[in-house]
Amino acid sequence: MSFYIGKHINHPEILFSAILSFCYFYYLFLPSKIFVRMLDLDTKVHDESRQGEAFAPATTGTQTYTKKFYIESYGCAMNFNDSEIVASILGEEGYGPTRNAEEASLILLNTCSIREKAEQTVRKRLTEFKKIKQQTPGMLVGVLGCMAERIKGKLLEEEKLVDLVVGPDAYRSLPALIAEAGTGQKSVNVLLSREETYGDISPVRLDNNGVTSFVSIMRGCNNMCSFCVVPFTRGRERSRDAYSIVREAEDLFANGYREVTLLGQNVDSYYWTSNDGSETITFAMLLEKVALINPLLRVRFSTSHPKDITDEVLFTMLKYDNICNYIHLPVQSGSSRILQLMNRTYTREWYIKKVDRIRELIPDCGLSTDVITGFCTETEEDHQETLSLMRYARYDLSYMYFYSERPGTLAERRYTDDVPEEVKKRRLAEVVALHRDISQENMLKEVGQTFKVLVEGTSKRSDEQLFGRNDQNKVIVFPKENFKKGDYVMVKVESCTSGTLIGKAVV
Ligand code: SAM
Ligand code: SF4
Repeated sequence: MSFYIGKHINHPEILFSAILSFCYFYYLFLPSKIFVRMLDLDTKVHDESRQGEAFAPATTGTQTYTKKFYIESYGCAMNFNDSEIVASILGEEGYGPTRNAEEASLILLNTCSIREKAEQTVRKRLTEFKKIKQQTPGMLVGVLGCMAERIKGKLLEEEKLVDLVVGPDAYRSLPALIAEAGTGQKSVNVLLSREETYGDISPVRLDNNGVTSFVSIMRGCNNMCSFCVVPFTRGRERSRDAYSIVREAEDLFANGYREVTLLGQNVDSYYWTSNDGSETITFAMLLEKVALINPLLRVRFSTSHPKDITDEVLFTMLKYDNICNYIHLPVQSGSSRILQLMNRTYTREWYIKKVDRIRELIPDCGLSTDVITGFCTETEEDHQETLSLMRYARYDLSYMYFYSERPGTLAERRYTDDVPEEVKKRRLAEVVALHRDISQENMLKEVGQTFKVLVEGTSKRSDEQLFGRNDQNKVIVFPKENFKKGDYVMVKVESCTSGTLIGKAVV
């Protein structure tokens, strides 16, 4: 069977950061793969290396399928997790997954709209499918996710080969939409829901390491950051039934998984009330429930909005060893004036206090962030404030972008996108360079320390080496000996590259 490797670079604006971060993975992968792996950013939440990845299930069940579907996913981890839900819905209809688009009768692109470039990549990809569709009678092509939601039925006019347009809250209607499209009619469902969480659907796990997995705990976002399209494409925030989340994590643990990442655009505002109103569960309570499943199950979460992460969450992290000491706390800008225009609802000073509180309660907490350069009206002074805040917070990881105006957002309606592109990019390069220096210093500090590492697999660089992560989400490589995937191993760090700690197991 010929395999299609669906990797596409859809966010070259963060290419700078990818290049500077590639050492993170260098130790794990062969030099011959450097140019592909350069985009293996050090994130599991928005993983550049997985952009455009074609779906393949982690386990092949015994089920036989009459039809095949092919799906590529773009954007954030929530989108990848949604593709697992789509795979589950299609499985019920007799569709099995394939990584070979040519043998599929249904091609789906699960899309992202966060930056303009993300949409351009999908449009280019659609043109590449034209030929395959012409050669395969009856083949249907569908666009799912945020781009479907943003452009809606207009996509059918703009992209003639598209048969289905399905928004993130409408995946349950996929079987009916496919049947309708099969009769030659184009079909669209982009209705956003206030209730849909897909809580009762067991996602079919994407091809992964069988050790770590994502679990969506909520959908949508109520925050209305002025630059962001998410509230328009993924709708209002709603929290998933806490017990269905715990069940999903229990099942994962029973199937050998040893780490779950609880996913949401703003996990700290998770708030679930039972139907009879007798029970309410906050994010801290949910974290505790998942942590209690088994001490061997590591728990991570993403993303935390700085305005919402509470002491209750920090104390829960402290209480359970298996809740990882790692927080993704996007700052976006270090200037209070820009933060206000961004509608982030915190100031520079407030953010700094949050960082101080995290460091006070959890001194060894890993910290990462998102930064946008060149937002509307950003001056050199504002930019310097971003740099100084980065120096203060000393992030281990940063996801750095230059501002991309999105149609329909508050910023597009209220402000002028007035920072020239070359200035946005120059500032981004400065942010990336500073981040590289800081993260390198952070890595050097770890040399000589011993960490508990969850093994995720064999290093691609050498069969004799394993790789995993410590609590703070740093990648550690060490000699295999008799250890295997899913083991916890105490590893003493002996050296490092800019992105990888290198050590030896200790007893
Ligand atoms: N909900 C998360 C939060 O509040 O941090 C992040 C969601 S968004 C999918 C991921 C990141 O994309 C944001 O934190 C922001 O840095 C970046 N982003 C969003 N809209 C953008 C835009 N219009 N231009 C550039 N970067 C953008
Ligand atoms: Fe977008 Fe802000 Fe919501 Fe994050 S919190 S998804 S940046 S609106």
